[in-house]
Amino acid sequence: MKIVTVVKADAYGHGLKQIAALLMQSGTDIFGVANLAEAQSIRCVGHGWPILMLGACLPHEVEAAVRDEVMPTISSLAEAKAFNAAAGRLGKKSAVHLKVDTGMGRLGAPVAGALRLVAAVTALPHLSLAGLYTHYAAAEDDAAFTAAQQERLAVVLAALQARGLVPPLVHAANSAGLLHERRIVGNVVRPGLLVYGVVPPGRRRVSAAQRGVFHPALSLMCRVSFVKDVPKGTPLSYGHTFTTPRAMRVATVTAGYGDGFPRAASNRAEVLVRGRRCRVLGRVTMDQTLVDVSGVRGVKPEDEVVLIGRQGRGQITVAELAAACGTIPWEILTNITYRVPRLYRGSHAA
Ligand SMILES: *Cc1c(COP(=O)(O)O)cnc(C)c1O
Repeated sequence: MKIVTVVKADAYGHGLKQIAALLMQSGTDIFGVANLAEAQSIRCVGHGWPILMLGACLPHEVEAAVRDEVMPTISSLAEAKAFNAAAGRLGKKSAVHLKVDTGMGRLGAPVAGALRLVAAVTALPHLSLAGLYTHYAAAEDDAAFTAAQQERLAVVLAALQARGLVPPLVHAANSAGLLHERRIVGNVVRPGLLVYGVVPPGRRRVSAAQRGVFHPALSLMCRVSFVKDVPKGTPLSYGHTFTTPRAMRVATVTAGYGDGFPRAASNRAEVLVRGRRCRVLGRVTMDQTLVDVSGVRGVKPEDEVVLIGRQGRGQITVAELAAACGTIPWEILTNITYRVPRLYRGSHAA
């Protein structure tokens, strides 16, 4: 089994160059990126690594993709021909992956046309068909639909098998597929979120034992900058969406939506101060947020505030923060902004 490690969107907000360097030391087979700029960032870290571009290549990018030896995702004969022509002009052979749309509805050839497309691509002289893949639409929620997607791919693979056209790499599983499916389709997996130690939330059950395998790579912290006692009836922050129901001790902390702590966390999320859960009070602002530290002894400026991660016996997971904000962990992670200083720990830190 091989792995396409998905490092798109700045490695899910973890820092593409650092994560790519780490993976080059600790091992991956292929890097999965969304676009050419991300592929080029990986090339700056180290040469010669296989890179699969998961997004479609725009017509004006085809030549650059061939030159940089980035494997494109091909959904149509027109795309395949553009790559074949560019590779011919550059005197290269371009390795490509064909995508089949089994129910995601985003990229990929329709199942009914897949056999014809594979046959046509195989015949193009400047292309080599390295892989065939599909993408799950609801692997974290819907076992039956995922099984149906697998069945559609199986039909395509059987037809290819009969003609000796199955490419070397076949893949489908994203993180949720890898986590939930008993049988992994093909010989490659393609996880993103799980690589960063985050279990994709969804309706399908994850056992405690499974959960125990994963440890989040990322924590998000800021600091207390100011503490005050306010009387009952004090309105707080922009728009006065919160008014103290009693006398409270309120801490101002040094992160806001300008750092990627979502404005949707206003009046909803909790953070950790001195190991205790503290509610966000009123609107999260660009640079600062107010939290209730009434129940916490000794809070003072400089104290660490955990927005995502562990502190003492407390933990705020990215899934919890996402749920409080009505979004998903992927969005929380990729929205952490470049104002936040990044610290990489451990012997592999690049
Ligand atoms: C983003 C992406 C993945 C990884 O998804 P996760 O849910 O983060 O594991 C895999 N394949 C494709 C095509 C993707 O776009």
